[in-house]
Amino acid sequence: MVEGQGQLTVITGPSGVGKGTLVQRLLEKNPKIWLSVSATTRSPREGERDGLSYFFQSRERFDALVADGGLLEWAEFAGNCYGTPRAPVEAQLSTGRPVLLEIELEGARQVRRSFSDAVQIFLAPPSFKELERRIRGRGTDPEEAILRRLARAQEELKAKAEFDAVVVNDDLDQALLRLEQLMGLR
Ligand code: ADP
Ligand code: 5GP
Repeated sequence: MVEGQGQLTVITGPSGVGKGTLVQRLLEKNPKIWLSVSATTRSPREGERDGLSYFFQSRERFDALVADGGLLEWAEFAGNCYGTPRAPVEAQLSTGRPVLLEIELEGARQVRRSFSDAVQIFLAPPSFKELERRIRGRGTDPEEAILRRLARAQEELKAKAEFDAVVVNDDLDQALLRLEQLMGLR
């Protein structure tokens, strides 16, 4: 790691595993962590706010960001594009703050190539059945999107060995503790 630079952590895991829930808890307990806000072409879900949950973009604006090199990484996921704005991440790392990216598998692979010091964590469900229960229980996605996300989850789970660590999100408090350990926060 470059002297004085903040630690970059990437958290990846199938849709519905509990990334959002866990990251929220992590930030509440550790306010010094800076969570990157991604750009996406997906439509906002109920309660999501532009600039807080995501920067919601048209496909044209997203493509322009890619063309200008404005994204650190980007990928297509279940029919939409998602990417990490480059400049704010670099600015936060240079102030020494821990930076967290919550992104899918292809994006994690891209970050691995450009930030070899980043800690890469895979969040896994206790079982596939439980993953399906959670994604359906959340009640935010149409059936077609759920099926696409579950199919993608099968692929993502196969890649977990690529990561520095796998954290099973069974008990939320235990998973949070493990995440904090891996990020060097305790
Ligand atoms: P993701 O961000 O990975 O798509 P969410 O954070 O939206 O997943 O969580 C999906 C659902 O699973 C939510 O309803 C959430 O309350 C629930 N959930 C998250 N973590 C756990 C856990 N450890 N045990 C049981 N349910 C959980
Ligand atoms: P959702 O639509 O459920 O918010 O997110 C779908 C998937 O996109 C999740 O796996 C989430 O981690 C991932 N994702 C969110 N932001 C980014 C990003 O900036 N880049 C990449 N590659 N994936 C992202």
